[in-house]
Amino acid sequence: MFKATFYPGPSRVYSNVTEYILDAYREGVLSINHRSEEFAELMIDLKSQLYNKLNIPADYEIAFASSATECWEMIAQSLIQKQSFHIFNGAFGEKWKTYTARVIDTMDHHSFDYQEELDVAALDLPEKTECLCITHNETSNGTQLSDASIHTLRKKYPDPLIAVDATSSMAGIALDFAVADVWFASVQKCFGLPAGLAVMILSPKAVARAVEVNENSRYNSLNFVLDNYRKNQAPYTPNVLNLYLLSRTMSKNKKIGDIDNKVEARYQDWCSHIESLSGLELMIKDEAIRSRTVLCVEGEPGLISEVKQEARKNGIIIGNGYGEWQSTTFRIANFPAIKSKEIANFQKFLSRKYS
Ligand SMILES: *Cc1c(COP(=O)(O)O)cnc(C)c1O
Repeated sequence: MFKATFYPGPSRVYSNVTEYILDAYREGVLSINHRSEEFAELMIDLKSQLYNKLNIPADYEIAFASSATECWEMIAQSLIQKQSFHIFNGAFGEKWKTYTARVIDTMDHHSFDYQEELDVAALDLPEKTECLCITHNETSNGTQLSDASIHTLRKKYPDPLIAVDATSSMAGIALDFAVADVWFASVQKCFGLPAGLAVMILSPKAVARAVEVNENSRYNSLNFVLDNYRKNQAPYTPNVLNLYLLSRTMSKNKKIGDIDNKVEARYQDWCSHIESLSGLELMIKDEAIRSRTVLCVEGEPGLISEVKQEARKNGIIIGNGYGEWQSTTFRIANFPAIKSKEIANFQKFLSRKYS
């Protein structure tokens, strides 16, 4: 039986993916060499689709990696020499700090209450901070940094790089890339693709910083990686199938502004639907910091576990609560690849049983 998944990653893939996989096989894409003319053509097309559909500034560069986790490590290796600063309110932001700590010596962090907006004015960064690491959409608790707070952060700290983990929002939410230096996301969330690929977007300042740091000792050193993608090649034999799927879905998709509108409308609809249920409510109370792409629904542990089980019996997969919120919440992905009909079915199931 086909299951409708609302898991916030890996998540539902675009339904055209089956057709594209078949095309990839028929067109011989699965066997192309990453130094070939065909690969270069694929890369040129893919990059131009990304610039166009996601509204990436023309002077920013695009690179690829295998996962968001790899991007954390690449940033620590290639863009930071001594001091990074991590700001987070949940598990993914904190994990990023832990991964960075394995590579560099000094770091500081500011953790803030997940029910509250980040207070930029209260931040006190060490003077030598080279990179400020923030999580745009905290997938573990369903919060999102407001545009205003990222802008205020940039204004207050014009010098260090700002790196943004946008894994569960890029390609779902319209991001203002110009306000930060490094943006990255793996594709198994809002991009609606199978896991195993990540997109990295870098400002001229980030690229210049990589050159200055001059770290060249790893297979995924940023300078080496960028050199390859600039030449429309890859630093190692990459996941060509996923790169191809990304170019096909991007070329078929509307521009990010339209996708953002769709995600926002569905989010509003989800909010009023959840309000109509009894015993279940949204965990994040302030609309201004609530994620548009991952909704965290809170209730008594017994009810939470019942909803998950009952939903599963009806062919609907819901995301488990994450970490400390495991038993008191479940998560609903609001990613663009999910079908309206699947949402309608899920909502009907919820109203039937829990209103
Ligand atoms: C899912 C997720 C990650 C981890 O992604 P991988 O591709 O598994 O490395 C990192 N950060 C955020 C915010 C996520 O949602």
